[in-house]
Amino acid sequence: MKKLSKKTRHLKEALTLKINEKAYQLKREGKRVFFFSIGEPDFHTPGFIKEKGIEAINENFTKYAPAAGISPLREEISKDIKKRLGIYYQPEEIVVTVGGKFAISAAILAICDKDDEIIIPAPFFPSYLEMVYLAQGIPKIIKLKERDGFILKPEDLEKVITKKTKGLILNSPHNPTGVVYSRDDLYKIAKIALKKDIFIISDEVYSQLLFDGLEHISIASFKETFNRTFLIDSFSKTYCMTGWRIGYCAAPKNLSEKVAAIQSHMNSSTSSISQYAALYALKMERGLINEMVSSFEERRNVMVEELKKIPNITFINPKGAFYIFLNVKNYLKGNKTSYDLSYYLLELKNVATIPGSAFGYENFIRLSFAISKEDIIEGVQKLKEGLFVF
Ligand code: PLP
Repeated sequence: MKKLSKKTRHLKEALTLKINEKAYQLKREGKRVFFFSIGEPDFHTPGFIKEKGIEAINENFTKYAPAAGISPLREEISKDIKKRLGIYYQPEEIVVTVGGKFAISAAILAICDKDDEIIIPAPFFPSYLEMVYLAQGIPKIIKLKERDGFILKPEDLEKVITKKTKGLILNSPHNPTGVVYSRDDLYKIAKIALKKDIFIISDEVYSQLLFDGLEHISIASFKETFNRTFLIDSFSKTYCMTGWRIGYCAAPKNLSEKVAAIQSHMNSSTSSISQYAALYALKMERGLINEMVSSFEERRNVMVEELKKIPNITFINPKGAFYIFLNVKNYLKGNKTSYDLSYYLLELKNVATIPGSAFGYENFIRLSFAISKEDIIEGVQKLKEGLFVF
């Protein structure tokens, strides 16, 4: 038999999903598992949104939708972006996609020819790397430093840009570190993107999960970068709609029309039912979102206090999303890796974490605090015990 394609030969299912599966298996076996591995809010989709989904089905709103999304939703997203971020996109410049993930993938496909370089700061959301490989591009990794607060420094960015560089994938609030870029951090990057003529794929799927009164800033808000940015957001985290598979890309027409065209051939559109429900999600009172964010902030505080009790680890206090990226270097003796540690913690202590290697960054593990406070307190205690005997 002939061989499968070179570009998929190394490809495997995301490690994050695999670890969660294993954790659920332990739970099914009756074990008390601490799900620090979780990558989604532990809240259900709000009832009002669920009812709208059911209404869509009952009203037979169940046919193919336009490739770029239904018009009322694109109009509502346009208004929402203007209100939240002060950036105006015409509704025609919004493409509703199969989650934020497909928007990122389509944006990469839209800019990347074979052997073009796409810059990815590490640690990174694991799928970025595979998306670039699938587009036959070359990922150029910039290793961010914990001592720089895991913020991409403009001089480091400028250094790696070559004639073959097409774009940069930026993510704020950031998975896995919870770091949030300030206006100043973003503006410095924007100036380089303009000077060096590169595109920006700005992954903002955690834009509304911010703590300590911070406001979300998009790199698309600068005149230097508006024309060259694919702004990507999602209903997954903000509205607890991870399984509905709905996100969007906002970008000037010449960029967004390519995302829409790619989606039309690969998915036709995202689910019409999800689009109908998402339209009402945007019209929803913000109360529920604010409550969820406060709850994450409280849990962040609990987690930080508990982690402070473990000696010889370091971490940055997250300002957004719901993750802490823990430096466990001092516990990795000999050739031990973050994967070995994660595996051990899950098997022996029923503590599910994601190894830093999944994010292209060794010596760290990612902990999610989208679990109950009781689980955080008990789970961190188990983690501590696990670290001590590893
Ligand atoms: N980008 C980041 C940084 C994420 O963490 C995730 C999901 O975990 C996504 C994108 C994908 O989100 P969606 O469910 O909208 O596809």
